[in-house]
Amino acid sequence: MGWAIALHGGAGRIVKSSISQSAREAAETALQEFLDAGCAALSDGASALDVVELVVRKLENCPLFNAGVGSVLTQRGTVEMEASIMDGRTRKSGAVSGLSTVVNPISLARLVMEKTPHVYLGFHGAEAFAKAQGVETRDPGYFITPGNKERLAKALEAGLCLLDHSVSPNPSGPGGQQEVPQPDGQVERDDKYANGHAPNGHPIAAEAQFETVGCVALDINGHCAAATSTGGLVNKMVGRIGDSPLIGAGTYANEFCAVSATGKGEEIIRNLCTKEVATLMEYKYLTLKEAVDTVIWKKLGEGNGGLIAVSRNGEIAMSFNTLGMYRASASEAGHREIGIWQDECFDDGNAGSGSPNSSAFVVFDRDGVASSDGSDRKGSVSE
Ligand code: ASP
Repeated sequence: MGWAIALHGGAGRIVKSSISQSAREAAETALQEFLDAGCAALSDGASALDVVELVVRKLENCPLFNAGVGSVLTQRGTVEMEASIMDGRTRKSGAVSGLSTVVNPISLARLVMEKTPHVYLGFHGAEAFAKAQGVETRDPGYFITPGNKERLAKALEAGLCLLDHSVSPNPSGPGGQQEVPQPDGQVERDDKYANGHAPNGHPIAAEAQFETVGCVALDINGHCAAATSTGGLVNKMVGRIGDSPLIGAGTYANEFCAVSATGKGEEIIRNLCTKEVATLMEYKYLTLKEAVDTVIWKKLGEGNGGLIAVSRNGEIAMSFNTLGMYRASASEAGHREIGIWQDECFDDGNAGSGSPNSSAFVVFDRDGVASSDGSDRKGSVSE
């Protein structure tokens, strides 16, 4: 059966016509590069747990994505990163929230899992734990990219929080309503943004910003693991916790499967999307694809998100009910797919290679612009 892997760079209202050719190429290049790194590690015999951490670290270190450097900003212009990881073999898990200095939240989540009696640390306690563990930290300003300052300014101006996830491909559908958090903590539902534009005319979609990241893997020993990391939502309230660090909501793995979610966190939490997939497989004997499709199309409201998953049988499922989801997957059996929209995905011809391709090493600057340094080493955006 062999190894299998899937990764995502977030689901949302990704409007094809608003993504420039260079942004699209940058996304596809990053997805290919990180997929190759995961495939190479799995074919070398690495554990699923090590591989999901490795791939998510790379995604966190790439400013194109909303995780680690490149995280979107809170209402106050700060970064509050969160992440979780789960080992399907042991069902051990670790999670962190409210980080503003930790370069790789996913690795801190793993340390919570391995070095503490707890599952989840947040805010000051998590930062103190990071210091005690000696993980790499940076000044909070390091994580704030010019693109995200601009995105926050637009969101503040438009009075919007959930910049792209809450708008359905079908504006009259349930996801066509926008949730607008009020200063008193209440949320008002409003459908005046349903056409994809705020009243001031700004498109609701965050043009070239990719989203939350995640990775799921099955290793050659038949074990599954999942990891998810995010900066959350643009203009979120300070202290808001989404689905990504919550085991069973944003991340879940057991002996049957591993699942990572992306999309509107509040809806993913209400539906415990990743655990629901595992439950449907365990108690209803659904295949991975059936379970994932059931959650995406019957539970999670239209326009609200996507899931990536692998099963212990080597199946891969990637499903979403938003306009798009940045995603990539591969298996030892020869499957390989990279895609953004429903109707368009491609195989870049590296199927089954299990090793990095020979394309030039790609470097991303802090605005997320990709360039090549001409060498063939890999991993430039991370270690
Ligand atoms: N699920 C994330 C959150 O709500 C956002 C995303 O997936 O892009 O924080």
